[in-house]
Amino acid sequence: MILLDGNATSQQIRNEIAEKVTAIKNSGKRAPHLVAVIVGNNGASLTYVNAKVKACEEVGFQSTLLHLEETLSQEELLAHVSGLNADPGVDGYIVQLPLPAHIDEKKVLLAVDPEKDVDGFHPESVGRMALDLEGFLPATPAGIIELLRRYKVPTEGKHAVVIGRSHIVGLPMTILLQKNAYPGNCTVTITHSKTKNLEEICRTADILIAALGRPEFVTSSMVKDGAVVIDVGITRVEDSSKKKGFRIAGDVLFDDVAPKCSFITPVPGGVGPMTIVALMTNTLLAFERKH
Ligand code: NAD
Repeated sequence: MILLDGNATSQQIRNEIAEKVTAIKNSGKRAPHLVAVIVGNNGASLTYVNAKVKACEEVGFQSTLLHLEETLSQEELLAHVSGLNADPGVDGYIVQLPLPAHIDEKKVLLAVDPEKDVDGFHPESVGRMALDLEGFLPATPAGIIELLRRYKVPTEGKHAVVIGRSHIVGLPMTILLQKNAYPGNCTVTITHSKTKNLEEICRTADILIAALGRPEFVTSSMVKDGAVVIDVGITRVEDSSKKKGFRIAGDVLFDDVAPKCSFITPVPGGVGPMTIVALMTNTLLAFERKH
């Protein structure tokens, strides 16, 4: 079993990005600039956003955290989005989800300038991804693809099963895995909460992507010998033995499943850091397109 180490791989990619940023600055240009917008005080969202901002600083990007009040109206948020669209000093920005219930996420998503859509959530980005045009890939699926590439995981002709059909993970993952490229050329099955015989389908997977958000849902009885298992899940599970009162659990029961796998990602330290570095890659792309 080979551990797909997202920490080490993402560090390697960050070093590569940092070198490019140094070259950009040495040429007299300003550094790429990412803005992260967060509305309210959701603990998990704040952790993710802070990790993104810190990663930006580490590679030499300029980064700005726009922390807005929970009570902000939709119109006020849309005004911030317009301002970011118009600001030539901002290469890309993300609006951290979820947004408070009184804000329509879709309206905000559609208001993002596709040229600055480094999360890859805008319909134009999704369309470009589906049609093999250059564009911003959604960070989590792109991070997973990069991890498969760096570890030279065989994918051609393999049966990939994706658990979860969210617009940000499950669905785009299936689009990327079926592409006529490496990593890709998989035969893909997408499954979701209404899927019948999920266990049986999972057992046919050469590559199993678990992105459903149910802690330790995937057990060894659902996994074929020699499978590649990618665990996207991040759930806070109460744990009084921890200082914070919780631990982070993936969607895979790691100790049970790992012995059967050819490759597996840990949680934490697998897909999470690869997601952040994919966002850095998109920001660099946004900068390069402009300059
Ligand atoms: P989501 O809630 O939007 O989607 C979950 C999907 O799982 C849905 O399509 C649903 O149909 C499916 N599902 C739910 N229960 C199921 C079941 N019992 N059987 C089969 N399918 C089921 O979630 P999401 O935004 O895609 O995130 C999924 C998980 O990945 C969460 O734990 C989230 O925190 C995590 N996540 C991690 C990263 C990262 O960087 N590692 C990034 C994004 C999301």
